[in-house]
Amino acid sequence: MDAIRQHAREFIDARLAPAFPAKDGKQTPWGGHPVFRAQHATATCCRTCLQINHGIAKGHELSPRERAYVVDVICRWIEIESRHGSSRRP
Ligand SMILES: [Zn+2]
Repeated sequence: MDAIRQHAREFIDARLAPAFPAKDGKQTPWGGHPVFRAQHATATCCRTCLQINHGIAKGHELSPRERAYVVDVICRWIEIESRHGSSRRP
């Protein structure tokens, strides 16, 4: 879980935290890493979803507090999912 949290932090810093992220709305792939799946499931995948679902306005760089919040949301979802996972691999 620590590794996942670290990855989540890196993805958020690189893809979500800038005031105007590159390719905003399409910066989060649909597969490849549990963090990406969690981002779509929790509406932390792009700044539009963050604004609509989490009340974090677009157009400013995410504060350390906002980044920590997003990482927490993602990690909580992954923890729950891994405990009750309906998407277990065969
Ligand atoms: Zn989105």
